[in-house]
Amino acid sequence: MSGVARDADVLVAGGGPAGAACAIRLARAGRHVLLVEREAGPREKVCGEFLGADAQACLAALGIDLPALGAVRITEARIARRAAHAAFALPFAAWGLPRSVLDEALLRAAAAAGATVLRGRSVTDATREGDAWCLRLADGARLRAPHLVLATGKRPLRGFARAGATEGWIGAKLHLRLRAPLDAVVLLPFAGSYAGLQPSGDGMANLCAALAPGAAGEARDAERFVGSVRAGSPLAAALLGGAQPCMPRPLTVAGVPYGFLHRDAPAADPALWRLGDQFAVIPSFLGDGMAMALAGGIAAGAAIVSGGSAPDFHAGWRRQLAGPMRIAGLTGFVLRRAPGLFADAVATVPGLARLVARRTRVIGAERPVPAAAVPGRPMAGLR
Ligand SMILES: Cc1cc2nc3c(=O)[nH]c(=O)nc-3n(C[C@H](O)[C@H](O)[C@H](O)COP(=O)(O)OP(=O)(O)OC[C@H]3O[C@@H](n4cnc5c(N)ncnc54)[C@H](O)[C@@H]3O)c2cc1C
Repeated sequence: MSGVARDADVLVAGGGPAGAACAIRLARAGRHVLLVEREAGPREKVCGEFLGADAQACLAALGIDLPALGAVRITEARIARRAAHAAFALPFAAWGLPRSVLDEALLRAAAAAGATVLRGRSVTDATREGDAWCLRLADGARLRAPHLVLATGKRPLRGFARAGATEGWIGAKLHLRLRAPLDAVVLLPFAGSYAGLQPSGDGMANLCAALAPGAAGEARDAERFVGSVRAGSPLAAALLGGAQPCMPRPLTVAGVPYGFLHRDAPAADPALWRLGDQFAVIPSFLGDGMAMALAGGIAAGAAIVSGGSAPDFHAGWRRQLAGPMRIAGLTGFVLRRAPGLFADAVATVPGLARLVARRTRVIGAERPVPAAAVPGRPMAGLR
């Protein structure tokens, strides 16, 4: 870096799964990382909280012990149909854990690995200054480093819009206490959309939905939200009858650009790394958004350590995600347009749901687990 003082080797904007995983990987390799996270303490996020096999592999590599954090094990999936429902064993045991718990554990692990974690500080913009990237924070502070990792999740940073993203879907989430304990992840189609219901920590269940653009009203209050999902199927009516909300109102996020997959413009900046939802947004409940964020964070950290460039990393990561994104997009389309057909197909074609679950994996059964614990070795498939 010529003439500009540096505050770190790498600046990370956003401390969700993507930013935290990248910071851990870099700090373990001895890089000086400054991570800036807007939230000062634990906070829920709109998310189904389903942690599949890839997410678990990444979390284990990052030193996160899901059972010790109170995560709930899930081995079965159900999909509501007109009168009955389809049920199948998951091809792997999954876990459910509130995001407030998971994200805090990841930030603790980042700090323990040696990253400097700034909490309750918001990034307002980022600019190139010669050889450095400069982050400006809301409190006026300026931070500089040769590399910048954009990991602000669902909210793009000013000046870094997700090119070509069609903003639209609304994500809504509500923690509930059900009348009877739940031991499965349940997909509940309802008027033009679908929701996921699964056990969360502390005896709660998590109801989370992707609502079509224009359905914001349904997500504003807990009773209306639960009522919409309940009306969708007898299974939803049975599971959600008498449920008690644990939040005053659903958490919501608007403008979720399902299907977005980043592509660099020609001559893109070699040191501007996009991760997690800033790189790709897979349809909810049909793909592993958190696994993509975690695995991408680990792989990007490894690429920075080995002197790689962001455009090369982005191109490789795009190739790796293209298949799961396509299958999740197609499945989501069928599920929204013809939920009955989808559930019937799952119920009558043995192995179909397991095949979709396998094909939407980021790492994939045939590919090795990320080389997080092996400093300097990028994840397989990225070269
Ligand atoms: C309805 C719905 C259901 C989903 N269900 C699942 C599921 O069951 N399983 C699954 O694997 N995935 C699921 N996902 C996807 C998953 O939530 C995301 O893919 C994942 O959280 C992406 O991680 P991330 O680190 O990129 O972003 P985030 O988790 O959004 O983290 C971004 C972080 O950046 C911080 N931040 C934002 N702006 C700033 C700023 N200006 N300055 C500083 N900090 C900032 C935020 O506070 C946040 O902590 C779901 C998504 C939706 C919408």
